[in-house]
Amino acid sequence: METFKREPLLRELKNYLIHLKDLGYTEIPCEADLFANAEIAPQQSHSSTPSNEMAKNKSLIAVQEELGDCTRCKLSKGRKNIVFGSGNPNADLVFVGEGPGADEDEQGLPFVGRAGKKLTEIIEKGMGLNREKDTYICNIVKCRPPGNRDPEPDEIAACKPFLIQQLKAIKPKVIVALGKPASSTLLGRNVPIVKERGTWHEYEGIKLMLTFHPAYLIRFPTLENRRAVHDDVKKVLKELKESQR
Ligand code: URA
Repeated sequence: METFKREPLLRELKNYLIHLKDLGYTEIPCEADLFANAEIAPQQSHSSTPSNEMAKNKSLIAVQEELGDCTRCKLSKGRKNIVFGSGNPNADLVFVGEGPGADEDEQGLPFVGRAGKKLTEIIEKGMGLNREKDTYICNIVKCRPPGNRDPEPDEIAACKPFLIQQLKAIKPKVIVALGKPASSTLLGRNVPIVKERGTWHEYEGIKLMLTFHPAYLIRFPTLENRRAVHDDVKKVLKELKESQR
């Protein structure tokens, strides 16, 4: 492997190991697919696809087919529906949330409950975009964590490859990570979201903006927090406009 490729890979690996340590891991579970984040762990009941196939960009539909009726982690036991994602598969802008809640689990669609209304308001009123036409929305885990708890490391590890494949298929100009779990998952480290929101990062060559989760705005609807998200999405709009020039 050439040096220019090895350096970012090693950096990403280091960040990921620090992230796992932050999450409380004291050893690496070898059965988990921790390193090849573009690879998808095959399900026993599914025919496995060779890993060189996995490395290729797939269409969103192919990614969803690969996900199948997923039982790769324990969240599958309590779900009603898998919430894969929704919106424009060719969108320039992708929002990544945490995981489905009760409404999303019921309908099989992301951000359709209270937090979803807030997100739609941010997109449509705040940014002047159309949610379905101009964006794609998905989560770091596709099944509802019981009682809306945070997704656990093994659940994120099982689901992250699908998020990565989704992003590879869509190839957006900008990704917005909503809240700490989405930001930490995409950056592979523990992100202090209050400190780092509003800052630009990069995910696989794609501009990545970190901001508060809409549910956080519902819980803490201070002027300061609302202004923060407003500022963040304005930065995103500016970047999108510049990328279209
Ligand atoms: N919160 C999320 O993070 N995702 C959803 O889909 C709904 C609520």
